[in-house]
Amino acid sequence: MARNSRNRIVLLLNSTYEVLGRIEMNRAILLLWAGKAYPFEVLSEDWLHGPPDADGKRFSMQIPVSIILKNYAHVDYADIAPMDDVMAGRMAILHRDGFVCSYCLAPASTIDHVYPQSKGGGNLWTNLVAACTDCNSLKADMTLEEFERKHGKKLLRQPFVPDSNKYAREQATIWDKISSGSVDIPEQLE
Ligand SMILES: [Zn+2]
Repeated sequence: MARNSRNRIVLLLNSTYEVLGRIEMNRAILLLWAGKAYPFEVLSEDWLHGPPDADGKRFSMQIPVSIILKNYAHVDYADIAPMDDVMAGRMAILHRDGFVCSYCLAPASTIDHVYPQSKGGGNLWTNLVAACTDCNSLKADMTLEEFERKHGKKLLRQPFVPDSNKYAREQATIWDKISSGSVDIPEQLE
């Protein structure tokens, strides 16, 4: 396994094959392991091995390049607020973060100001993350330092400014691959 495999970024696809965003390998593995997603494309020569279990067996899987959600994640594009390259709307943030909480990896439906709005944190791509309702209400107007000290929770990924052209290119690439039959499309997704 390549040394940096665990740091790779994996493309997350909706069950309808639309690109939802890019997520870290660790989160992709969690989604696969939890049965919430299937590998879509893998690097056939590159394997990831878990630690041996009680019987000495190791969990092994091919490194995913992209994974596809088993269940459709609803994306209401009409909700995306008009924005320039720094202002972000709620749905755009959820979309960027793949509808996964940035503090605990549970499904997310709300957004959180990393640096609290009450303390001057802005509505910026780099200050907003997807959060589940539990983490969001726990964190309230705490800073990251306070949140970690009081609840042991950390920001598991850094928010970033998405490159929308990159999404469009990724989407075009996915459709190309599907239409040319060059990827294995997972069996019936529910
Ligand atoms: Zn959470």
